[in-house]
Amino acid sequence: MKKLSVLGVRVDSVSLEEVKSIATAAIEKKEPALFISLGSLTVMQARKDQIYKTLIEQAKLVICDSAGVAKAVKYLQRTEIPRLSGIDLIPVFAAMSVKKGYRIFLFGAKESVVAEACRNLTVTFPGVNICGYLNGYFDIINQNDVKETIKRSAPDILLAGLGQPLQEKWLSTNLIELGVPVAVGVGGSFDVIAGRIKRAPLFFRRLGLEWLFRMIIEPWRLRRNFVLINFILSILKEKFIGGKQKYG
Ligand code: UDP
Repeated sequence: MKKLSVLGVRVDSVSLEEVKSIATAAIEKKEPALFISLGSLTVMQARKDQIYKTLIEQAKLVICDSAGVAKAVKYLQRTEIPRLSGIDLIPVFAAMSVKKGYRIFLFGAKESVVAEACRNLTVTFPGVNICGYLNGYFDIINQNDVKETIKRSAPDILLAGLGQPLQEKWLSTNLIELGVPVAVGVGGSFDVIAGRIKRAPLFFRRLGLEWLFRMIIEPWRLRRNFVLINFILSILKEKFIGGKQKYG
């Protein structure tokens, strides 16, 4: 694993095998480890939010989640980094659970969505050890109930699909108290696993055009696309005018 940065925000060059072995070590040693998936939007959010940027710096792993970030790193630093999206990690953790009995908890999305995601994972991965689930719509008042439910379920892997940056902020604040080894922000993945949102077809994914597919099926996310344009402009500015590169 090698720490690099894009527009001053940390991103790691990490292979799938390394992700698996870092997760296994955290579970075996019972050490808390926050895994963050970094996309172009995350980079832009972190540049505006110092607290978010700092928690990204302190995470165990910052995995490159988007073609945009991978291309930016290649363009600015001439380094190829593996791309692993949050949604791709879920089957990997499910397979680890089948093999080693690791307990997985799903936290996030609407009640019917997360319940359906659990059912689908159980069907796709017979023997997967799902120790519980909770929807992601809670308020400060019932926050303790949420934490108690997760603690009682004693997961080895907590998948939090609350959207960014909420999921990472909530996990980093509560990880030690929860006593969960591996905590992973998975964004809207439960909606995809539950079959509520279509994943971009392979054609779009291969070309790194998942954002375009999302723009077509969810046009109301227009604001996101302006942020993506801003990301590209910031990369060009960094290339031609220069900027600070941390790590790598
Ligand atoms: N969500 C949630 N609690 C909230 C807000 C959002 O559980 O308070 C869920 C929402 O239902 C969806 C996910 O968080 O399943 C966010 O998905 P989105 O695609 O917007 O996030 P991204 O993958 O872009 O981070």
